[in-house]
Amino acid sequence: MEELKKKKLVVVGGGAAGMLSAVLAADYGWDVLLIEKNEKLGKKLFITGKGRCNITNACDREEFFEHIMTGRKFMYSSFSGFSNFDLMDFFEKLSLPLKTERGGRVFPVSDKSSDVIKALERALGQRHVSVTVNTEVTEIIVQKLCREKEADGKSAVQGKVCGVSAVMGEGKTQMIPADAVFIATGGVSYPLTGSTGDGYCFAEKTGHTVTEPVPSLVPFETKETFVKDLMGLSLKNISITVWKGKKKLYSDFGEMLFTHFGVSGPVILSASSAAARELQKNPLELSIDFKPALSEEQLDTRILRDFSEFQKKQFKNALDKLLPKTLIPVIIERTGISPEKKVSLLTREERGLLVRQIKDFRLTLTGLRGFSEAIITKGGVSVKDINPATMESKKVKGLYFIGEVLDVDALTGGFNLQIAWSTAAAAARGLGENLQTGKRKHLMMRGS
Ligand SMILES: Cc1cc2nc3c(=O)[nH]c(=O)nc-3n(C[C@H](O)[C@H](O)[C@H](O)COP(=O)(O)OP(=O)(O)OC[C@H]3O[C@@H](n4cnc5c(N)ncnc54)[C@H](O)[C@@H]3O)c2cc1C
Repeated sequence: MEELKKKKLVVVGGGAAGMLSAVLAADYGWDVLLIEKNEKLGKKLFITGKGRCNITNACDREEFFEHIMTGRKFMYSSFSGFSNFDLMDFFEKLSLPLKTERGGRVFPVSDKSSDVIKALERALGQRHVSVTVNTEVTEIIVQKLCREKEADGKSAVQGKVCGVSAVMGEGKTQMIPADAVFIATGGVSYPLTGSTGDGYCFAEKTGHTVTEPVPSLVPFETKETFVKDLMGLSLKNISITVWKGKKKLYSDFGEMLFTHFGVSGPVILSASSAAARELQKNPLELSIDFKPALSEEQLDTRILRDFSEFQKKQFKNALDKLLPKTLIPVIIERTGISPEKKVSLLTREERGLLVRQIKDFRLTLTGLRGFSEAIITKGGVSVKDINPATMESKKVKGLYFIGEVLDVDALTGGFNLQIAWSTAAAAARGLGENLQTGKRKHLMMRGS
């Protein structure tokens, strides 16, 4: 019987999404070429989780979706098809033992991101996936189709992908034909790793909408320059709230850090995800509660107790038990009370000023640090143009977008990589279905 020629897939980008999708597409019987512009695969993956690679989070489905900040509904289908537990099974079958740490964060037992990359490279090799490095895809080639109309009269599919143009190491441009193309080029954060936003240009040139990319999971800059005097001060068990006027945009509890330009640390990075777009338009206010476990009344009682112990001391020398040393002069200055005043002479109103500074310490957020410091990019290819079950474009047949290039993002904890894995697996599954349909058509045409 005549053999059905293998269909050809080109995967653009050898990061997390690109590598996994290439492996799974090969399992579905596709002839796969993975193209990476760097000299090696997985440069960003290598630096994830401080070099340990927090590959996913072992939480339940509900918790997973609570951590998705953009594109939650869009992710339902692909996460159901390839969940965090499917991912863990996948890696354990590739002989990469995993462990789960605090907050459900999953890492390789070896604590080495390089082992994750090696496992994926092994899987690519076992499936004879062709890998080309030092090769930059510069164009997606699309054949225009007569417009098919949707029921509501809007134009739907406008074209069909037929290949890519790529510049090889030696500067030669080559046209590579393909039946399907996966765009797995990532966002624009940490551009030195190769994620330079190429996928956004490909998307726009082929008729897709791209939501403006902004840095996310990134430190804030503040108007107050005194923060540089607090540089290095790391605080645990504080709570923060980001305010837009009287509207609460985000609140959280955990750890933060003062830097020479503003604030950073886990709760701040998470807050940046909620505040990133608003901050493009206007400054926002950050309120820090240094004693979230105490109500204002309880804090006042605690202060009174300390002051009666230190009644002969000046205000500036009476807060050592309550606050970190470097924070004391800043708080005192903000109360407007003389640092030399004896604590026994402080009035109830003055204690109130102190309580307010400790419970609601305000900073003006003026901006985000740039993409070079952002863990992820918020924004990207609009999910309205993408089929959530297969990641195939609704506008160009055979063109798929996976991973961070999509307008989907999450908080820290392994959720962003899980977005890359789940969308990659959905696209491979989409191709599997495509192949089945192709085979059925072929058999019908041959009358078998
Ligand atoms: C410092 C840091 C730490 C992080 N830690 C974690 C973590 O522990 N857990 C977590 O869940 N997430 C983490 N993230 C986020 C996570 O790394 C990304 O969300 C994820 O890597 C996105 O995967 P991707 O495959 O979509 O894109 P990328 O990993 O960015 O891969 C895209 C690839 O495409 C290639 N490419 C781009 N354009 C072209 C082109 N024109 N031709 C050919 N190749 C091209 C690039 O060189 C790159 O290799 C971290 C991010 C950073 C920056």
